[in-house]
This record gives sequence, C-alpha cells and structure tokens, in this order.
Amino acid sequence: MATEINEFGEEEVKVSTESVKCSACGANMVYDPDRRALYCPHCGTEKKFEDSSVAKELDFASGLSADAQWKKEDTSVFRCDNCGAKVVLTAKETAKTCPFCGTAHVQKIEELAGLKPNGVLPFSFGEEKALEYSKTWAKKRFFAPRKFKKNLESKNVNGVYAPCFTFDSSTYSVYKGRIGTTHTRTVGSGKNQRTETYVVWRNISGTYAQNFDDVLITAGSKFGQKQLDKIQPFDTNASKEYREKYLLGFMAYHYDYELSDCWGQAKIKMDAAIKRGILSQYTYDKLDYINVSTNHERVTYKYSMLPIYVGNFTFKQKLYNFFVNGTTGKTWGKYPKSPLKVTIATILGIAAAAVLIYLFIRGS
Ligand SMILES: [Zn+2]
Ligand SMILES: [Zn+2]
Repeated sequence: MATEINEFGEEEVKVSTESVKCSACGANMVYDPDRRALYCPHCGTEKKFEDSSVAKELDFASGLSADAQWKKEDTSVFRCDNCGAKVVLTAKETAKTCPFCGTAHVQKIEELAGLKPNGVLPFSFGEEKALEYSKTWAKKRFFAPRKFKKNLESKNVNGVYAPCFTFDSSTYSVYKGRIGTTHTRTVGSGKNQRTETYVVWRNISGTYAQNFDDVLITAGSKFGQKQLDKIQPFDTNASKEYREKYLLGFMAYHYDYELSDCWGQAKIKMDAAIKRGILSQYTYDKLDYINVSTNHERVTYKYSMLPIYVGNFTFKQKLYNFFVNGTTGKTWGKYPKSPLKVTIATILGIAAAAVLIYLFIRGS
C-alpha cells in the first residue's frame, strides 16, 4: 500500500487491487448502481469513473488461458457452512451473511476464485429498489402468509453477481426425417358406410443454417437455468468489459459448472431451436422421426457476471429463495404458502365441485 497526493492536493491511498479507499475518510468505497459511481457509505463521498467498453467475445477454440484466472491477491472465497454456497469477494471485503440462506455461518476458505469474468452487466438499481420489487411481488402471491408479505427487510435481499456463459455460434445442419398428414375418407356403402382416417407419410431432407447470438447458460447450481430463464431477459450484449470496481460492495457467486459443461448445455438449447426451425418449414400432423446433424463454426463465448438480487426468507424452518433481475426488476421464486389459505382454497374448490355435480345430477 502506498500513499500519494492526488490532483486535489489530498492524500490518496493506493492499494494493490482496484478496490478503492475513500479519499476523504479512508473507508472502503462501494459501487452504487443508482449513482453509477463509487460511493462511500461512511461519509457520502462520490467518485465517478469511466464506464468500461463493451465486453469482447472470446474464441472458444483457444480455450481458457492461465491468466484468465482470478488472482488470489484480488479475491477471497467464502463458503456458507449452512447451505454450501460459495461466494467471491474483492480481497478487502468480508462476507458477513450468506445471500442464499441469510445465516452468518460464512467462513473464508483457502480456495482460488477460479476463472476471472471478462464481462459484467452492472446492477441498474440499488438494494432499496430491489426490496420494493420483492415486496410488490410478495403482495401479489395469494397463498403467501401475511408474515412473508409484511416482514421482508433489506437483510432478506442481497445483490449477487451470478456467473454465466454466453455462446455465439454459426450452425450448419443436415437433416432427414419422416412426417405425416392425416386425411379422412369414406369407405363401404349402404349400412357399412363409414369414415376412416389415414396418414400420408412423406420423407423430408435438407440443409439448415442458423446463427446464434449470446445463448445464455448459468454456471451456478443455486441460481440455476430455470431460475435464470424465469427472470430473463438480460441484455448481455450490453455487458461491460470486466472491472473489479463494479463488484465493490456486492458478492459474486462462485461458479459450479465449468465452461465445457456449459457449452454442452448451450448445444442442447441450440439443437432444440434448430429442430423447431426445420420443422416450422413444413405442414404436418405427425412426426415419425427427425435426425439432425449440426456443425458449429466461429464459436465464441463470454464469461459474464449477471446482476441478481437474491432473496431469502425462512418460514417455519424452511428456506425460500426468490430472485430479482438487477436490471429490470422482474421477480420470481419460491415463497411460503399459508396452510390456512391453502385449506380454505381447497374447501372452496370441493364446494364448487359439489355444486357442479349437484347441478349436473339435477339437470339430467
Ligand atoms: Zn468516506
Ligand atoms: Zn448459506
């Protein structure tokens, strides 16, 4: 650590990493999404910095080089003893509670943070707004108990960057299949006349090309693909070149799945889209089979951090997680259900069914 005099004649503390100390009071600054600047929560000093440029696509074939690793001096890894989640923080920060389960059983562990992201989509609003979105969402959950609707506090919602890979690919496919259309005809005569349906089968084959841009695959298990898809979209093409400053004051969720696994998932998604694309060119009623063989060319990827507010709420000793898109506010997740409300709804349902049966019997 070295001290320097800056252009305002103030003493500025330089640290080895990008983590920035407040020039006025020396406290750690955090990234404030509402100000789009670094902010000192201790004394209110604000420090603007130039946004980094848009994150670059990396060549998939050349893979990940060793310097793509997060350096040990820059980051620390914490593990939650309660739920097993691992989070990454900049070296100067300490995790106090686990964003996924809300307990304080977090411990610093001697593990490397792994791959360094090359892109980051910064949060576009702060924790206060995230709590508002959560409350609005909670209020609309009919079966949720009052306790859940009323008791959400800022400690229940934490900003976490979720690791994900995006893939681009130019695909070229060759396909072969058999489709059928159903028809009806009248057979027999007189008393034996009847209509029957029959299928006319047809062989299809051809080639199909499709370009994919930023197919998004999450690299974490606690914030998985299902959760991600529920709170999409994320404008990953607007991801910035990764800089540690965006992470200050937030946690990053340590990835659970490797690049190659995620590429496998991306291919499954692309395969399904290609198949849909091919079949949409035909009119048919029945599909016998379709075989598609696909070549991927010019595959690139980005390893990006997505802004998510993770909500955690424990109700009757059970943990519920919900997620808020940190750019749009779209919220989705698990929430407790009030046993009383569920019982009332069930009784009402049975009563409605009984009325219908009564009307049906009386009517016949
Ligand atoms: Zn300060
Ligand atoms: Zn936990």
